Amino acid sequence: PAARVSGQKQDVWTIVNEAAAASPKQPIVNMGQGFFGYNPPKFILDAAKEALDRVDCNQYSPTKGRPRLKKAIADAYSPFWGRKINPDTEVTITTGANEGMLSAFMAFIEPGDEVIIFEPFFDQYISNIEMPGGKIVYVPMHPPATGATKTSSAADWTIDFDELERAITPKTKMIVLNTPHNPVGKVFSKDELQKIGDLCVKNNIIILSDEVYDRLFYVPFTRISTLSPEIEQLTITVGSAGKNFYATGWRVGWLMGPEHLIKYVSAAHTRICYSSVSPLQEACAVGFEKAEAEGFWDDAIRDMKGKMDRFNEVWDELGLPYSEPEGGYFVLVNMNKVQLPEDYPFPPHVASRPRDFKLSWFLIQEVGVAAIPPTEFYTDENAHMAEDYLRFAVCKEDSILEEAKNRLRGLK
Ligand code: GLN
Repeated sequence: PAARVSGQKQDVWTIVNEAAAASPKQPIVNMGQGFFGYNPPKFILDAAKEALDRVDCNQYSPTKGRPRLKKAIADAYSPFWGRKINPDTEVTITTGANEGMLSAFMAFIEPGDEVIIFEPFFDQYISNIEMPGGKIVYVPMHPPATGATKTSSAADWTIDFDELERAITPKTKMIVLNTPHNPVGKVFSKDELQKIGDLCVKNNIIILSDEVYDRLFYVPFTRISTLSPEIEQLTITVGSAGKNFYATGWRVGWLMGPEHLIKYVSAAHTRICYSSVSPLQEACAVGFEKAEAEGFWDDAIRDMKGKMDRFNEVWDELGLPYSEPEGGYFVLVNMNKVQLPEDYPFPPHVASRPRDFKLSWFLIQEVGVAAIPPTEFYTDENAHMAEDYLRFAVCKEDSILEEAKNRLRGLK
């Protein structure tokens, strides 16, 4: 095999999902990978079923996406941009946000080019950047000083802008932003985004802004592309129907940005997977056309915030500090106080990893709740910063969240 795959550790999603499936505590409450425990709303599901009956919806779509979906996305986002987004030149549909990001790196990265990402990072960025030969330059997000002892706000994770500026070299081609952030739950403030954007303008750096959780924010949310025309000219915004419509298995995503960037991303996408899933693109188009009138976006925020707040009560009860998210559906919890039995029989692939993998394994086996070990979102050098934490996804039915709380109370 090629080095780009042979050197890879098993991915954290498979490790946790396989452990959850094999746990003696069935049915397990799987709060690991961020998939929804419930279906997309009826108006979107109905649209998908209808699309399957249409001959044209079961065949190839144009490489850049179905015109109806591109238009629906352009219409939905134009108000945020304060101008009309051109659906034909400024939007391209991808097979999930992940393939969209891979296409963006394939479009702009030559071997040796540098890409700045903030640490912790969503793990998939790493291989997506390295596949075209990119070199990753990490800039830390600093956790709140008292984060390990007291519940804090995800807002208190900070960027040191001098550190960011020092990370920029003549080889810096792109920077990856993620807001709302996975796994921290931080929503970058307008001021932070302005500073990042200005640095990118000054140094001519392409901004890949991963905004897949853009409909789930609990504090004011700013889209970096909207901050100035100069920033917009450098920004590709990443979106996800999986996250927006509770359908992570549909693999419908998109990229928005100026024509001079989007045309190259589309070219890469065409050669990677040609086009994306037709019937589900059609269903997502209906989703965007109807969401506002259905009150869906407001409901989505209210529902998820309710789940988040109710679930986190269990950490308050247990006296375990967490980072209160400003957006998205993940919460990082500090498990420093949870003691692991000394002679616990961890399997080798867990025993060889940091303490958070052991915590995750132990909870899956003994408590019946699965969560993600977040050292996976750090470089080896900095993994120690996350080894007492677990990440829980709260996008589950209310009854399941209650069950999880009951089981977790056993940690007392
Ligand atoms: N975004 C999802 C999460 O963080 C995982 C997606 C994936 O498994 N690649 O849970």
